Amino acid sequence: MNYYIHVPFCTSKCGYCVFYSVTDASAELRERYLEKLFFQLKTATEKAETVYIGGGTPTLFDAETLTRFLDKVLTALPCSADTEISIEANPETLTREKISVLRRYVTRLSTGVQSFFPEVRELLGRRCGETALRRALDGIAEANFPHWNCDLIYAVPGRSREQWAKEFDALSRCPVDHVSCYSLTPEEGARLYGRLAPCGGDLAAEMEEVTREKLSAMGIVRYEVSNYARPGSECRHNVAVWRGGLLRGFGPSASGFDGADRMTESASLADWLAGTPPVTDRIAPEARLNEIFAVNLRTVSGWTKDLWKRVPRADPWSVRMKKAEAAALAFPGCFDVSPDNVKLTPKGLDFWDTIAEELLS
Ligand code: SF4
Repeated sequence: MNYYIHVPFCTSKCGYCVFYSVTDASAELRERYLEKLFFQLKTATEKAETVYIGGGTPTLFDAETLTRFLDKVLTALPCSADTEISIEANPETLTREKISVLRRYVTRLSTGVQSFFPEVRELLGRRCGETALRRALDGIAEANFPHWNCDLIYAVPGRSREQWAKEFDALSRCPVDHVSCYSLTPEEGARLYGRLAPCGGDLAAEMEEVTREKLSAMGIVRYEVSNYARPGSECRHNVAVWRGGLLRGFGPSASGFDGADRMTESASLADWLAGTPPVTDRIAPEARLNEIFAVNLRTVSGWTKDLWKRVPRADPWSVRMKKAEAAALAFPGCFDVSPDNVKLTPKGLDFWDTIAEELLS
């Protein structure tokens, strides 16, 4: 089983963010969240392959609360020495003490840096000063986590290809083994939606090329449209979920999938605390197959016959193959199709969304 825990607290709202979090929770409200979470976790009985603690800002808790939180969560979940335990951390919330707490409990730290340039962070609404960022990154590097991810955002308006390349000069001083690079896309509901359009077209494509070149020089290669890792350091949680693995989600807005139904918790801390049950959607096999197909087309390894076998009662593999072969003709140079595998070439990955729309319509 893969477990996801949503910590719905942030100090402020970043301009592009549509994840559920509250910025004004009192200490008492946070305690009520923890108590309810600890209670619900008692129902988790299946062996944890992966645990992903995201948010929100899980590292917003003070060091003592963070210790209690991690201790209770990881005692409640049936973890083993092999369980991947990831947590998201915002650099400005980290202290040496918190870093050492995290090092004791987690195997994978994911840091939301977004940019090494203060003016870009400010534009995005990320409240992390230079000193705080440097102190956090030095502390993490010293702590030597088994796995360390850094999130970066590109296609920020007004930024050049050369400035984007410099992000990697700064990044190369951090011993990360995983990097997630997301194109700036403020969605509806985000503060910057309609106010900050990403630079698109050729410049965004050039930035993606820079990303591949710079990370490849660091031994970090693309395994999904937005994700890069040293071979063997891919995020096991995400890969498992993409491949249709079972997921249980805890906390407001968290969702899970039990093989037939998707359960989504209320995206309201008040409602979740009041006991509003999760919304349950029965996912038809064809719809599930399309979901898995679409998300795995984003990966370098693509979609395989083995993955298709995981969705019972879906249409035959041969039907999928026929559609893929037709799409390969419509998008020359974008597909690599063999009898048991459909994947996109590097050029195809750049047009993933257009291709997926065509293929799954
Ligand atoms: S991006 Fe992360 S830190 Fe920023 S508001 Fe969203 S959840 Fe909070």
